[in-house]
Amino acid sequence: MDNCIFCKIAAKQIPAQIIYEDDDLLAFNDINPAAPIHFLIVPKKHLATLADCTVSDTALLGKISLLAPKLAQELGCGYNVDANGVGQGGFKTLFNTGPDGGQEVYHLHMHVIGGPRPWRRSLA
Ligand code: 5GP
Ligand code: ZN
Repeated sequence: MDNCIFCKIAAKQIPAQIIYEDDDLLAFNDINPAAPIHFLIVPKKHLATLADCTVSDTALLGKISLLAPKLAQELGCGYNVDANGVGQGGFKTLFNTGPDGGQEVYHLHMHVIGGPRPWRRSLA
């Protein structure tokens, strides 16, 4: 897609702090983080919003969802249960969709947000 900033990041036409890449997905740090850890997982294929996805995108959405906890763990905000059965850590996942959903970049992306609080109020 012309003039899509995340397509340009996926095509390496503009730089980003890339933390993961495979044939279908890219993950990179958000340029304006709302928390100590804030990265985005995007499909390389251009899809404007979650509402544009169809059943043919089921596997892609599943891959995004499964990648989130894996990368969160690697980056230090994974969710873990200690020996006493008490949960520790964790992160927020978020797809903003459309103007009322607060979407600014119209290329599908999952926000993954974590790390010690406080976070920016708008996302907390
Ligand atoms: P949205 O509001 O669309 O859900 O979120 C878009 C996110 O993309 C925002 O958190 C914003 O900081 C981030 N973002 C916008 N432009 C760039 C960019 O050029 N590079 C990176 N790494 N993040 C961006
Ligand atoms: Zn795009």
